[in-house]
Amino acid sequence: MLRGLWTTLHSLFTKPITIQYPEQKRPVRARFRGRHVLKRYENGLERCIGCALCAAACPADAIFVEASENTDEKRFSPGERYASTYEINMLRCIFCGFCEDACPTEAIVLGDNYEITFTERESSVYTRDFLLEPVPAGAKPTPQQTEPGVFTRSVPEMKDPTD
Ligand code: SF4
Ligand code: SF4
Repeated sequence: MLRGLWTTLHSLFTKPITIQYPEQKRPVRARFRGRHVLKRYENGLERCIGCALCAAACPADAIFVEASENTDEKRFSPGERYASTYEINMLRCIFCGFCEDACPTEAIVLGDNYEITFTERESSVYTRDFLLEPVPAGAKPTPQQTEPGVFTRSVPEMKDPTD
């Protein structure tokens, strides 16, 4: 009994380790894998080129990608194609990060959002519009009208991964 009382007394004078969530949130670790985000370039174009390598790499078969062709009048990504449908079934996802590793354009990223809740099965499928990050300040939303001959590569130029 005395040991129990000592523990209580001792706890009264130690700094609490609990925080007032959700008002207060702890910062996540640098390599934390939270909810996926589909990234954009600084000019607002989407990084995803609809190649479906993420879907092929996913061990849980959680990703569905359907690609469509870009045109200069209606351009979503700098590549030849873009993901017109992009879905992740969060009931299947095991947050392994393989999709992130497989993506050639660094389009799909597991961010730091861990507040993932849904109450219906339909809401567990996160769609392209939900996953796309907001358009950067000063950039145009997609689809954009672009100059002919500017975006000619099927896959956008990427930085050297060995740098
Ligand atoms: S984190 Fe893993 S399981 Fe989840 S969608 Fe990506 S590859 Fe699939
Ligand atoms: S997220 Fe990356 S790997 Fe997946 S379809 Fe888009 S470009 Fe390809």
